[in-house]
Amino acid sequence: MPKYDYIIAGGGCAGLSLAYQISRSKLRNKKVLIIDKSVKNTNDRTWSFWHQEATHFDHLFYRQWQQIRFINQEYNEVHELKDWRYSMLRGIDFYEYIYEELAQNPNIDKLYATIEELGEEDERVFVQTNEGRYEGDWLFNSCFKDEALAKEPARYHYLLQHFLGWVIEVEEDIFTPDCPTMFDFRTQQAEEVRFLYTLPFSKNKALVEYTIFGRELYTQDFYEKELKQYLEAVLKLKSYKIHEVEKGCIPMYDHPFETFPSPRTVHIGTLGGRAKPSTGYAFLRIQEQSRQLVKALLETGKPQYTIQDYSRYQYYDTLLLNILRDKGDRISDIFTEMFKNNPIQRIFRFLDASASPYDDFRIMWSVPWQPFLEAIWKTRKQRSRVETQ
Ligand SMILES: Cc1cc2nc3c(=O)[nH]c(=O)nc-3n(C[C@H](O)[C@H](O)[C@H](O)COP(=O)(O)OP(=O)(O)OC[C@H]3O[C@@H](n4cnc5c(N)ncnc54)[C@H](O)[C@@H]3O)c2cc1C
Repeated sequence: MPKYDYIIAGGGCAGLSLAYQISRSKLRNKKVLIIDKSVKNTNDRTWSFWHQEATHFDHLFYRQWQQIRFINQEYNEVHELKDWRYSMLRGIDFYEYIYEELAQNPNIDKLYATIEELGEEDERVFVQTNEGRYEGDWLFNSCFKDEALAKEPARYHYLLQHFLGWVIEVEEDIFTPDCPTMFDFRTQQAEEVRFLYTLPFSKNKALVEYTIFGRELYTQDFYEKELKQYLEAVLKLKSYKIHEVEKGCIPMYDHPFETFPSPRTVHIGTLGGRAKPSTGYAFLRIQEQSRQLVKALLETGKPQYTIQDYSRYQYYDTLLLNILRDKGDRISDIFTEMFKNNPIQRIFRFLDASASPYDDFRIMWSVPWQPFLEAIWKTRKQRSRVETQ
């Protein structure tokens, strides 16, 4: 059995991104094993994200836009992105491209097997699968298991971003191909955050997705009913053909995710806390983590890198999660004020945790204060109660 330098547990977004960046670097002669329980041969997800810088995958973008629309009952505005872009990458295009790239590198092995156990022994890492045991020097784990997280609901917030989307085709030309709708709050809020977004492919084809930030999942029927209601009552569509379905759930937790849980193991992707708690966006954060890991391996031979201090943003995430959890139906108003009173570029920087303190101040000044003051008071009380227990 070969001795691996790196074992990557989970060959999804984070595992494949890391393998790709390793293979494209001076580490390409390292022996790498990627283990996943299944081959990625369907379009199981679509990544969209805003960005300024080029990514490794720009040539694969399915669509890219230079403006976005925000809508609620009384506000409907198109925001020009200027030097930013909103891009869409289909999962299947990403998987196929990376599989092809990795196939050119004889040092990278892929194994389709279920991981049963993983850990460290005698300064080596091991992964036990239903196909056998594998050993290596470093382990990069992206197998997130929600039930394995020791949750502390008295201290942290645990929300879920859950959604159902349909790629639909209609007879009428009703979509504006160069302008996606990022938020449309014209749907019942029911004390949680509910909105729709539309990513148009042409005048008569688009991905329309119904999204909830809330505490619990619903039955399939529920999402279908709400999505149908939006298409028929709000977009006034009489008939449409469903070509593809996207369904998913992303954790929105302020529970700290450990990146370096033990000396030779690194947690990557969702397991490594790469999904931003208040937005669920993860794709670019995963690319950045892969870049940091490769840089650290090249410079020091070890994957440990200095994690940027996001403490003020962790606090903002906690406040926002508190409002999302307890006052979800206020989010439409808060977001409306934020979009009305700030350039979209500032909002993107703020949501990306890369804004200046001045940007933070302008954003905070522009939104209703009361929910935030309540959230500050409640989270302080919550934490002090936990600390005195
Ligand atoms: C439907 C959907 C849409 C999303 N859209 C966006 C978006 O638009 N923008 C954005 O920024 N983020 C988005 N996200 C969030 C995030 O980008 C993705 O979830 C991303 O795929 C996370 O990467 P990951 O590698 O951590 O997890 P995954 O991509 O899920 O990879 C984990 C891999 O581990 C494997 N695995 C797990 N357990 C085992 C086991 N025991 N044995 C073997 N293999 C195992 C799985 O098969 C999987 O392939 C979306 C998420 C979902 C679910």
